[in-house]
Amino acid sequence: MTATHCPYCAFQCGMVLAGPHDPVAGDPASPASRGRLCVKGWTSIELLDHPDRLLHPLVRDGAGRLRRASWDAALDELADRLDQVRAGAGPAALGVFGSGALTNEKAYLLGKFARVALRTPNIDYNGRYCMASAAAGQNRAFGLDRGLPFPVSDIAKADTVLLWGSNCAETMPPIMQWFNEQQARGGTLIVADPRRTATARRAQLHLQPVPGTDAAVANGLLHLAVVEGLLDEQYLAERTTGFDAVRRSVATWTPARVERIAGVPAADLETTVRALAEPPAAMLLSGRGPEQQTKGVDTVLAFTNLMLALGRVGRPASGYGTLTGQGNGQGGREHGQKADQLPGYRSIADPADRARVAAAWGVSPDALPGPGMSAYEMLTSAGTAGGVRALLVVGSNVAVASPATRRVAAALGRLDCLAVLDAFPNDTTEAAHIVLPVTQWAEEDGTTTSLEGRVLRRRRAVNPPAGVRSDLEILCELARRLGRGEQFPSADPERVFSELAAVSAGGRADYAGLSYDRIDAEGGVCWPCPDPAGPGSPRLFTERFAHPDGRARLAPVTYRPAAEEPSERELSHPARIREGSCPFWRAQVMYTWDTSTRRCTPRVTAPKGSALGVTTTEVVPGGVGWVIHR
Ligand code: SF4
Repeated sequence: MTATHCPYCAFQCGMVLAGPHDPVAGDPASPASRGRLCVKGWTSIELLDHPDRLLHPLVRDGAGRLRRASWDAALDELADRLDQVRAGAGPAALGVFGSGALTNEKAYLLGKFARVALRTPNIDYNGRYCMASAAAGQNRAFGLDRGLPFPVSDIAKADTVLLWGSNCAETMPPIMQWFNEQQARGGTLIVADPRRTATARRAQLHLQPVPGTDAAVANGLLHLAVVEGLLDEQYLAERTTGFDAVRRSVATWTPARVERIAGVPAADLETTVRALAEPPAAMLLSGRGPEQQTKGVDTVLAFTNLMLALGRVGRPASGYGTLTGQGNGQGGREHGQKADQLPGYRSIADPADRARVAAAWGVSPDALPGPGMSAYEMLTSAGTAGGVRALLVVGSNVAVASPATRRVAAALGRLDCLAVLDAFPNDTTEAAHIVLPVTQWAEEDGTTTSLEGRVLRRRRAVNPPAGVRSDLEILCELARRLGRGEQFPSADPERVFSELAAVSAGGRADYAGLSYDRIDAEGGVCWPCPDPAGPGSPRLFTERFAHPDGRARLAPVTYRPAAEEPSERELSHPARIREGSCPFWRAQVMYTWDTSTRRCTPRVTAPKGSALGVTTTEVVPGGVGWVIHR
């Protein structure tokens, strides 16, 4: 039996595996999940020996067909094509697209590969579509971005939890044990969500803001806190800057105005702000609903303004946090696969950060590229003047998991070289010139970082099928062919992790005190952990924030309506949903289904209408619903 973690979401439930044909069991020793799994975890094993697995490299021939190739032939071909593009159009014509599903080791080595082996600035990942707003908001407010700045077990100790835009009863069911415990202890759960979700039905109070008005509601709550004398003035004076401007900015956000714009009754606003301000412990947790908007960063800042003004952040079982999505959505955004980032959450634009990482990598700081294009810019500019001409995609089905899919598909078709590392054929491999088959989660060692910042061990539980290689092996082999083998000496995950930990030393996400042995011994350690002999950091901001002066920042948030309103034609149809709002499928099967592999057996049957997130009473018999995918 091998103890590892579910690959699918950032809750990272502990699981125990015996073999590819044995049932998965939850691991009671896992501190966050305590033995629970959801249907995604239970069915994860089905994909390991699935007959559709890619088992050998594929290279597109002159007739346009993908043909089986040897590893040497495929890697030689890919290295030649990358070299040709670089020689003809410069290193910035090479692009790398990563994933929040990659282990920390892969995310780190991919960032190093882009900057050192390819020498391109253009690397980004699918977390750009997911967590970027929450990350940017937390960095601005607190100087640091970690999903939860406290252990998930603190949820159970909070007197009030305001859960905003997350249907975690369906998307992350094992976390509900902490909400259940919180309510059993007499705590209050308030859910803010336009839909009456399974999670909202469990709350004592359900706020239903009009989609896109979340910041108006948060500003209105802060307005009430000001006029009703609920602020923590001492905390604001000692631990923050910027509140005077925020106080002025919320002066006009009266309950009547909020009710008119957002549709939330004034009495519910009053109940909510008092529930957040009056008991000893209160927290606000957000999900992708309010974050994945054109104004997502502003909305997160409205949340942090509120919780800072109430003096909650850094206090016991209190503060603001965000429920990270992808399996390694947290660690995947810390170690260098973002366009503006170097390992340890360092900035690629900061001279000191550049010098530190360049020295560790054995290159001159001047040789390190600067910030590159974001994920969407890189994809849609592909094949155009100034865009990338060759793209390496690792662990992401970008052809369907990006906005403006038709535009992205056209861009992929313009590339001189599209290479994809994946375990299954998918929409992106169909457009690829070269496809390289890789190991899956239970077939490899590594680490991931959960939504509470806990660095966990992924352990190899089964042998991979013959013919596949790990992403780390492939990157090292490519680097060698590109003349950079010296800087990529080992594909062994533990050695890569040791390098990552050393390079991260002194960075905001400092892993220097971590090793596989220590993570094994402690069952996971929360970062920052700079000292092998010192503790990890399960709770952040208890004494100071991560800005140089130790103070948190408040910033006025100007409310803007939704960037896109439905057209007359769209409004004339009976159902209107927003992109990404198919909660049933996302909840139960999407991680092993639509944008992933489409091969896992659904264990549940959708009631009529639920795939669109509407109830049967909202479906017009015989009517036609339009799913607008922009
Ligand atoms: Fe746990 Fe998330 Fe996996 Fe479900 S998908 S078993 S909640 S880690």
